[in-house]
Amino acid sequence: MPKVRVDKAVCMGCGACWALALQIFEENSNTFKSRIKEPYRKEDSGSESIGEIPDNLAGDAKAAAEGCPTGAITVG
Ligand code: SF4
Repeated sequence: MPKVRVDKAVCMGCGACWALALQIFEENSNTFKSRIKEPYRKEDSGSESIGEIPDNLAGDAKAAAEGCPTGAITVG
């Protein structure tokens, strides 16, 4: 189960990640930044959102990490 992390200090809420990987990421309507969606979210603090995703979504997560303009997403 790959781990996915969004660094909220770095995320600027551009929306690229949830456009590229709608099953994994969503906009937090309070902060306008990205977070990991349920049921994959394991932790959601003020500074980061962490989740574990099934292996078949790893490619989508990596595409989102590569497409993130600020480098806020890490996978693995
Ligand atoms: S692509 Fe990066 S900067 Fe844009 S919303 Fe997602 S995590 Fe934030």
